[in-house]
Amino acid sequence: MDDAAPPDLNNFPVIMPTYARADIYFERGEGAYLFDDKGNRYIDFLSGIAVTSLGHAHPHVTKALKDQAEKLWIVSNIFKTHPLDRLAQRLVDLTFADTVFFQNSGVEAWECGIKTIRKYFSTIGQPQRYRIISFQGCFHGRTMAAIAASKADKMVKGFGPIMDGFDQVAWGNLNELRAAVTEETAAITVEPVLGEGGMKPLSPDFLCELRKICDEFGLLLYFDEIQCGMGRTGKLFAHEWANMAPDVMCIAKALGNGFPIGACLATAKAAQGMVVGTHGSTYGGNPLAMAVGNAVLDVITAPGFLADVKQKGDYLQQKLDDLVRRHPKVFSDRRGTGLMHGLKCVPTNTDIIKSLRQEKLLTIFAAENVVRFLPPLIVTEAVIDEAMAIVDRVATQSAGA
Ligand SMILES: *Cc1c(COP(=O)(O)O)cnc(C)c1O
Repeated sequence: MDDAAPPDLNNFPVIMPTYARADIYFERGEGAYLFDDKGNRYIDFLSGIAVTSLGHAHPHVTKALKDQAEKLWIVSNIFKTHPLDRLAQRLVDLTFADTVFFQNSGVEAWECGIKTIRKYFSTIGQPQRYRIISFQGCFHGRTMAAIAASKADKMVKGFGPIMDGFDQVAWGNLNELRAAVTEETAAITVEPVLGEGGMKPLSPDFLCELRKICDEFGLLLYFDEIQCGMGRTGKLFAHEWANMAPDVMCIAKALGNGFPIGACLATAKAAQGMVVGTHGSTYGGNPLAMAVGNAVLDVITAPGFLADVKQKGDYLQQKLDDLVRRHPKVFSDRRGTGLMHGLKCVPTNTDIIKSLRQEKLLTIFAAENVVRFLPPLIVTEAVIDEAMAIVDRVATQSAGA
C-alpha cells in the first residue's frame, strides 16, 4: 500500500477507503442469489464472508426479526429478556460451555475471550500468566489485541505500539508450540479451520494434541470458530469432529445470518473471573440479535440439516478436486472441509476472482493466493453445479490466456 500514489485529500472518499470495493450495488438477495440494481443475478459463494449461511432473506429468520422488531429492541443488560436467556441456554446445552457473553461482532467476542483468559489467571493468583500463543496466518479481527495476535504486516504496520502479550508459532507446528510455552503463557488461541489465512483445517489428531499440551502446562485452550462454526463443516462446531473441547470459544458471523452478533462461550472454570462489573456491552445480547440467533439455531439444529451440509460439502469438494485435476495451470491445490473450501491459484487469486465475478459468481480471496468458496449452507447441488460450470469456464479461459 505504501507504494500507492498519495491520496487526493481534496477528493477523499466519503467512506474510508480501507476496502477495494467492487463497483456493484446490490439491492436484494434470495437464498444463494444476489441481485444488483441493474437486475443482474449473481451466485453468492462468499455469503457476506461466511455470514449468510441460511441464505439471503431466509423466511424463518426474517420473520423472527420482524416479529421482535415490533415488540422490543433493547432494554440494556441491566434487565432480563427471554430471547437472551433462551439463546444463552441453548448454546450452553449444545456445547462444552457453561456460560456465554454476547457481543456485536466477531472481534468483540474474540476479545471477550482474551479478557476472560487473563482474568482467569489473575483470579487464581497467577497474574504473571498473561501471554497468548497464536499460529501464523491466524485472523481474529481488527482491534488492537486481534492485530497483535495476528502480527500480519498489512494489519499492524503503522498502528504501533502493538499490544504486548501475544506470541506466535508456525501454523500447525507442535514442536514450535511446545518450545514457545513459558511460565508467562496463559492460553493458545486457534481457528480449528484457518479461514482468512488460507482455508486450512487442523486435523482431529492435532486438535487433541493441543488439548493435551494445554492440560500438561495448565493453559486454557481458546478456539475461534467465528468462521468455521455454526454448521459450516457439517457439525455445529468444527472441533466436534475431534471429539474434544476447548475451554473458551468465540462465535459470530453465521449465528446472526447477517444481523450483527458475537458470543464468547466458556466453561465455568475459565469464566470464574468474569463477575459483576468486569465486562460489558451496550448492545450485546439485545433482543433483536437474540431473536435472530434463536431462529438461526432452529434451522441449523433441525434433524438432518448438518448431515445435509456434510453431504453437499463432499459434493463441492469432489467438484473442486476435479477442477484442480483438469486445470493444473490455473489451480494447484484444493483445501478446506465441509462447505468451506479454497482453491490455490497459479495466476493471482484476484484475477480469478474478478473473472468469476464477471461471470456472476461471487467468491473471495484468502491468504496464500487462494480463492475461497463459502456457499450458504442451504445451497443445492444444482446451484453448486451452476457455480462449478462458471469456475470451469473461467479456468479454461485463464489457461488459454
Ligand atoms: C471474520 C472473523 C473474525 C472477525 O469478525 P468480525 O465480525 O469482522 O469482527 C474473527 N475470527 C475469524 C476466524 C473470522 O473469520
